Amino acid sequence: MARSYDAEAPAPAGDSLNEACGIIGIFAPGLGVARLAFFGLYALQHRGQESAGISVSDGSSIACHREMGLISQIFDEENLAVLTGHIAVGHTRYSTTGSSIVVNAQPLLERAAFGEMTLAHNGNLTNTDALRARLDPATVLLATSDSEVLAKLIVQAPAEDMLARIRSVMTIAEGAYSVVLATEKQLFAFRDPLGVRPLCMGRFPGGGVMFASESCALATVGATYERELEPGEIVRVDDAGVFCDPMPAAQTPDKQALCMFEYIYFARPDSLLRGTSIYMGRLEMGRRLAAEHPADADVVMAIPDSAVPGGIGYSQASGLPYVEGLIKNRYIGRTFISPDQSLRARSVHLKFNPVVELLAGKRVVVVDDSIVRGTTTPRIVSLVRESGAREVHVRITSPPITDPCYLGVDMATHDELIAANHTVDEIRAIIGADSLGFLSKEALLGAVARQRSEMCLGCLTGEYPVKLSTPEYAFASPL
Ligand code: AMP
Repeated sequence: MARSYDAEAPAPAGDSLNEACGIIGIFAPGLGVARLAFFGLYALQHRGQESAGISVSDGSSIACHREMGLISQIFDEENLAVLTGHIAVGHTRYSTTGSSIVVNAQPLLERAAFGEMTLAHNGNLTNTDALRARLDPATVLLATSDSEVLAKLIVQAPAEDMLARIRSVMTIAEGAYSVVLATEKQLFAFRDPLGVRPLCMGRFPGGGVMFASESCALATVGATYERELEPGEIVRVDDAGVFCDPMPAAQTPDKQALCMFEYIYFARPDSLLRGTSIYMGRLEMGRRLAAEHPADADVVMAIPDSAVPGGIGYSQASGLPYVEGLIKNRYIGRTFISPDQSLRARSVHLKFNPVVELLAGKRVVVVDDSIVRGTTTPRIVSLVRESGAREVHVRITSPPITDPCYLGVDMATHDELIAANHTVDEIRAIIGADSLGFLSKEALLGAVARQRSEMCLGCLTGEYPVKLSTPEYAFASPL
């Protein structure tokens, strides 16, 4: 019953970095689950803008609709109306492994001897080649993603029921995987034993369960946030109720590795992560940044939208007034129309315009959440100077990003990462700022009230929580 569309959209214009994915799972008899999944995915659009899809089971078969594009471009009344049932799985994707083509769009749909199965994955497996080698040699792989290998392994696992299949694959899969999976009659959600990518659970007031990458999706559709899934936990929902299967003690690793970049940039500020508000965490990062890197300045501004809580925190702690120095065009997100040569030079203006009256003649602190390749910051510094600012002091609410991510964030390679190749003072000169300060790792951990042993700081330290042995990971040094 699955439908797929071969139309391939061109790559998005501009040079923004890629993000991880967003996933949704809903078990709610009596509610329109396709529509709930649609609005839930809408709330997770920031986690991936390349392709999206929703699968729905009515108890006897699974229908799936997935396409390249944004949620609002893919779904309409007509195609949602076909997705009838009481179990839904949804996904919004930006590729981390596997190229940007529709066969890699998710949810994936598998037809197995035991029936149909649909799966949505957020994360990145680090031993995909070894896992692929375990598959039945007759296996036909249609996609190029690690997620398809994961799905096939679950289908082929020598176990009686789905819970046992998932558990057995969890003993061999390495890396990051937060997954929602549905059969015709059951919904499952599980997280890798390190808990790298988030996944939370909530309930609808009148009955029904929802899983989502971030709690903002639950709040959007009226489900009440209950808790985060534990690393290594599997939750099953069916007509008999909710069954939670924690990771067996013998298989539980002695550390956890929640991605720090979720706190820094990815997650929406209105989401909770391990019960901590992302917004309050970012506010505190800004406050601590002001203490670590004060500036002799007149005003503070942030690069919208992700750095706004950090900018407000910097303003609160420094006593400098917060101004909205830049206004972002909220609708530019993704365009298939590339700017022509004359507009390309103004590409930053397509996204941001300054409020000159707030900046002219001022010494300005510009707060951002991260410098990755160093593309955005110099453009912003120029924009602020062109607006008449006398001085520009850049403050970043994360430490320098010195290493790539192998666990689900398509960040950049070592060659592309500006902080992998330059000192802080060299970066200051390259971006054209009068001064530059990064938040320390200790202050970052303190701001989100986390221990180092609970977090993956791979992009900030080059030390990863998993074994990275293939040539692809030649640079990486496991903890
Ligand atoms: P860059 O321009 O490469 O230095 O990237 C840093 C800017 O992009 C910052 O303004 C961040 O808010 C934003 N950013 C950081 N990481 C990502 C990501 N993975 N995808 C999209 N934007 C990002």
